[in-house]
Amino acid sequence: MEDSTRVAFVSLGCAKNTVDSEKMLGQLAEAGCLITADVSDADIVVINTCGFLQAARLEADGLIREAVEAKARGHLKRIVVAGCLVQRDKEQILDRIEGIDAIVGVNNRDDIVRAVLGSGQREPGPGADIFLCDYHPFTQLDTARLRITPRHYAYLRISEGCDQKCTFCTIPAIRGRMHCKPPGVILDEARELASDGAVEINLIGQDTTSYGLGADVFDGGLAGLLRRLDRVDGIEWIRLMYAYPSVLSDEIVDAIAECEKVCNYIDLPLQHISDRVLKAMGRRIDRAATERLLRRIRERLPDVTVRTTLIAGFPGETDEDFKELKEFIREYRFAALGVFPYSMEPDTPAGRMDKQIPEGVKQQRVEELMLAQQEIAFELAQQQVSKRFEVLVDEKVGKDMARGRHEGQAPDVDSATYIEGCRARPGQFVRVQCVGREEYDLVAKPARVR
Ligand code: SF4
Repeated sequence: MEDSTRVAFVSLGCAKNTVDSEKMLGQLAEAGCLITADVSDADIVVINTCGFLQAARLEADGLIREAVEAKARGHLKRIVVAGCLVQRDKEQILDRIEGIDAIVGVNNRDDIVRAVLGSGQREPGPGADIFLCDYHPFTQLDTARLRITPRHYAYLRISEGCDQKCTFCTIPAIRGRMHCKPPGVILDEARELASDGAVEINLIGQDTTSYGLGADVFDGGLAGLLRRLDRVDGIEWIRLMYAYPSVLSDEIVDAIAECEKVCNYIDLPLQHISDRVLKAMGRRIDRAATERLLRRIRERLPDVTVRTTLIAGFPGETDEDFKELKEFIREYRFAALGVFPYSMEPDTPAGRMDKQIPEGVKQQRVEELMLAQQEIAFELAQQQVSKRFEVLVDEKVGKDMARGRHEGQAPDVDSATYIEGCRARPGQFVRVQCVGREEYDLVAKPARVR
C-alpha cells in the first residue's frame, strides 16, 4: 500500500486503552501510514474499543456501524476494530456487524500494521482478517508511542490484567491475569516519555498496588518502583492511579511520603462501604479495614488528595446500605469522587445475582451521592482560597488565561485550576495563589513562574 495511506484512529475507553492506541499509532506511523484525526479524510479507520460496560459496548457498536455506512458510501476503504470489545466478543462481532475488514484483540495489538495493511490470515465466510488469542505471556512493551495526550503528561502502564475477583467486573475475563512489566522496562519507558517532553507520569494498570506481587515478583513491589522512578531525570510529577485498597501497604504510603516527585495523591476506587455489599462485590476488604487505611493515609500524608469511585445500586443494596454509603462520603470528605450506577454485566457473578435494583432507583441513588459530594467538593475547594501551590499548565484558554492542574488534580478525571493573567505555555509549572473557585474548579493568579 502506498505510503500516503491515510489512517484515522478512534480511541475509546480508559487510560490503558489510550496507551494501546498510542502504541498502535506509533507502529502505523513507523510503517509509513499518514495519521489523520479526521475520519472523513481517511482511507482506513481503526476503532480501538472498550468492552467494560454495556454502555461502552453500545457506543463502540454505534461508531463501527457509522464507519460501515461511510464505507458503503465509498468514503472508506477498510475498517479495523481493535481492543476490549473484540477480545470480549471475538468473532461474534463479525456476525453482529457486517462490513468489518479486520479485528484485533488486546493480546494482538502489535499486529495492527498487518491488520491495517490487510495481510493477515483470512477466515472463510465474511472474509475479515482476524488477529486474536486468549493470552499474552507478558505485558506488551509500550515504547515508541505516538502519543495522543498533550506532550507534557503521559500514562505509564506498569501492569496489565487483574488477579482481583470483583463480582461486577468483566476486565479479568478480557485482559486476563495480572502481568507486570519488569522495573527496568518501566524505567526505560519513563526515560523515553521524559525525553519526549512528559514532565508528569500517571502510573496505570488494573490494580497498580499489586505490582510485583502476582505471577511476576519484583523486589520492593510498587514502593520500590516508585523510589526508582523518583530518580528519573526530567520527570517532575509521578501520580498513582488505580490503587486497590487491600494491597495499599504502609511501604507504598511511605514511598509516596518520601519521594519528592510522587504526587500527594492516590486514586483509590472503594466501590462501597457496607460490609454486606463489599462482600457481595468480592472486594477483599471490609469497612473497618477501609477506615483504618484512610486514617493511616491521612496521618502519613497530610493534605493528601484521595480520589475514589463508588457504585450505587449493586444487587441487593438496601436503603440502609445506601444510607451508610451516603454518611460515609459525608464523614470522609473525598476531594474527588465519581459515582457510577451498577451496570448489570450478564457474564459476571453479580450479573446472575437476585435482587437487581431498578434503573430508576440506581439513578436516584447516583444523583443523591453526587449531590452530597458536590457540597463537600465546593467546601474543600473554597478552603484552597489564598493558598499558594504549583500548577502544571495544560492549555491556554484565551490571551491571558491558562487551564492547569495542581498535584491533587489528575488529568482527564478531576477538576482544574484556571490561572488569570497567565502567559505560561502548556507543560510549564506556575506558582499560583488561589483567589476563588468556579463550581469544582479553582481560580488562581500567578505568584511566581518557574
Ligand atoms: S480490581 Fe476489581 S474492578 Fe478493578 S479491574 Fe480488577 S476485578 Fe475489575
